[in-house]
Amino acid sequence: MSVLSVRSLTKHFGGLSALDGFDLEVERGEIVGIIGPNGSGKTTFFNVLTGVYQANGGHIYLEGVPDDILRRKTHEIISLGISRTFQNQRPFNNLSVLENVIVGGHCRTRAGIFSALLRLPAGRRERDWIRGQALEAMSLFGDRLTGMKDMPAWTLSYANRRRLEIARALISRPKVLLLDEPTAGMNPAESMQMVKNILEINKAGVTVLVIEHDMNFIKKLCHRVVALDYGQKIVEGSFSEVRNHPRVIEAYLGKE
Ligand code: ADP
Ligand code: MG
Repeated sequence: MSVLSVRSLTKHFGGLSALDGFDLEVERGEIVGIIGPNGSGKTTFFNVLTGVYQANGGHIYLEGVPDDILRRKTHEIISLGISRTFQNQRPFNNLSVLENVIVGGHCRTRAGIFSALLRLPAGRRERDWIRGQALEAMSLFGDRLTGMKDMPAWTLSYANRRRLEIARALISRPKVLLLDEPTAGMNPAESMQMVKNILEINKAGVTVLVIEHDMNFIKKLCHRVVALDYGQKIVEGSFSEVRNHPRVIEAYLGKE
């Protein structure tokens, strides 16, 4: 049974096809790696999937939702159970680490912070509950985030910013979690720790789609790998099938 079913997804920017008839079936509980050279459409896929960009065509079905979710708004998609991290997201620097996780569940734009804070439940019990949820999500990373919960977010290392992003995405209790380059800026030891963290999230029942350039990370983490080039799926299968496939090698050689 697919938790996510993507059919003929297409996104143009002017004359450029960033996604060109992309199809993907994801089974519940899978960890799927998405690879491909720079500009192959990986981030665009996440953007279209989460309603950040409007697709030009295609269909997206999510388990338990009768209708195509393609035209839904970002906040609706989050509440239906798809949550994500961004490739280059910066935290709200003047909010604390904990506040960043709390607010992240409610908004994605700087302009929206204030209204998001206003929308937070006013009652003490509800506030405590949300705080508890945030601390629980943060505790996935041991004391790396919880130990800094009251510090302003600008004091976080790159690695901790990536962890913050994930904690924030978990607040909405997603069925499907989308991670866009979660180990950017991490050293090899931190990346391997991130493999363990994501495996733990997955074990708790979350299906994971992860974009990453680090092939060792993909190999250790993913059940299945999908390779994109020019907005199309060129190969999918096990890590070794995909990584050594002539079309994948050619796609990377052509650009890097
Ligand atoms: P990847 O994440 O695989 O590196 P992207 O999905 O970011 O690739 O980009 C795919 C293609 O779409 C690239 O050619 C990129 O320049 C183009 N693109 C992405 N976003 C935009 C945008 N907002 N406006 C115009 N072109 C874009
Ligand atoms: Mg990208």
